Amino acid sequence: MHNSQMTTELLPNDLPAEMLQPTVDALGRPLRDLRISLLDQCNFRCPYCMPEAEFHSEYEFLKRQQRLTYDEIIRVAAAAIDLGVSKIRLTGGEPLLDKNIGSLIERIAALPGVQDLALTTNGMLLAGAAEKLAHAGLHRVTVSLDSLDKDVFRSMSGGRGDLDKVLSGIKAAESAGLGPIKINVVVQKGVNDHTLLDLLEYFRGSGNIVRLIEFMDVGNCNGWRMNQVVPSRDLLEKIGQRWPLRPVGKNYAGEVARRYEYVDGAGEIGFISSVTEPFCGDCSRARLSADGMLYTCLFANQGTDLREPLRNGADDDELRDILSSIWLQRADRYSELRTPELAEHHVLKKVEMYRIGG
Ligand code: SAM
Ligand code: SF4
Ligand code: SF4
Repeated sequence: MHNSQMTTELLPNDLPAEMLQPTVDALGRPLRDLRISLLDQCNFRCPYCMPEAEFHSEYEFLKRQQRLTYDEIIRVAAAAIDLGVSKIRLTGGEPLLDKNIGSLIERIAALPGVQDLALTTNGMLLAGAAEKLAHAGLHRVTVSLDSLDKDVFRSMSGGRGDLDKVLSGIKAAESAGLGPIKINVVVQKGVNDHTLLDLLEYFRGSGNIVRLIEFMDVGNCNGWRMNQVVPSRDLLEKIGQRWPLRPVGKNYAGEVARRYEYVDGAGEIGFISSVTEPFCGDCSRARLSADGMLYTCLFANQGTDLREPLRNGADDDELRDILSSIWLQRADRYSELRTPELAEHHVLKKVEMYRIGG
């Protein structure tokens, strides 16, 4: 239930309803989702996210003490829930590299007010973890999988991915009750767009939902060019010629994917068209990096350090006030303002995707 509907009952963390108004930003958008990046390391080197040339063996990732502890993450999550967050997603880097993740999931799932707890993973370590994650209280999992062509997949994972392991991970997640699983596919022209129909065919009728994501100009090191983006409308036309599609309404305000279903009843697919059809108007997401920076846009060039107040004695009220003032001032709408020239020439220094987790 949203805060505004709660009048008499107690809210998360036992705050009386009248103390809390839904927190809306400068453009009237509520805070509903929190994405928590657990670590900046990854076992893949997808060229569109962490190109090997930059993230080589000498690259210095965050040290343990620089990353937020679970206690600190829980405090931020609880404060965000007080301000209206009901959906939490764990991401990275690769979140399953954190071997203790089950205990964090248990603690987040136990926070009053969490209605949806999900995780995004590249799937390599999912087969061995799915049962444990479900048992800890995770609701859903999203698996990133760019192609079923072994060579294309391998090269899009920076030479590190094993397709069979990812497919086993998806099966294990289904068996553990973490479905329907969303399958995230970053589409890059001339790289994997010729393999999409095969991938869709594989998942048709499985109950899982493939989401085709336009290659985005996140960060500064993935060499993004507008001519590598395949507009969703072109994909829609191409897919519709093979399997007729019809649009389906949004599940909830702020949903990023435009949903379609196969007319023949084989399930649903989604399009995330951040480049050609931006959806900033109802963007309700905040992102917490592993070192405790809070970002209010995927394309942010600066965030707010929460680790410093967390480690210097800020109490829960102070923490909530900090979050609230960040959100109240928020006016981000990068995708609506993007021009290919700005993006291609990296005029803005943006935070990298592996740090804030997509
Ligand atoms: N490592 C995990 C994974 O790959 O699922 C979680 C973190 S990853 C940064 C989160 C999502 O961001 C993935 O689905 C990935 O495909 C997507 N992503 C990364 N770089 C992207 C880009 N340049 N354009 C579009 N999506 C991107
Ligand atoms: Fe790692 Fe995910 Fe980025 Fe690929 S997209 S490099 S799997 S964090
Ligand atoms: Fe939200 Fe920023 Fe993406 Fe717009 S560009 S939808 S504000 S994350």
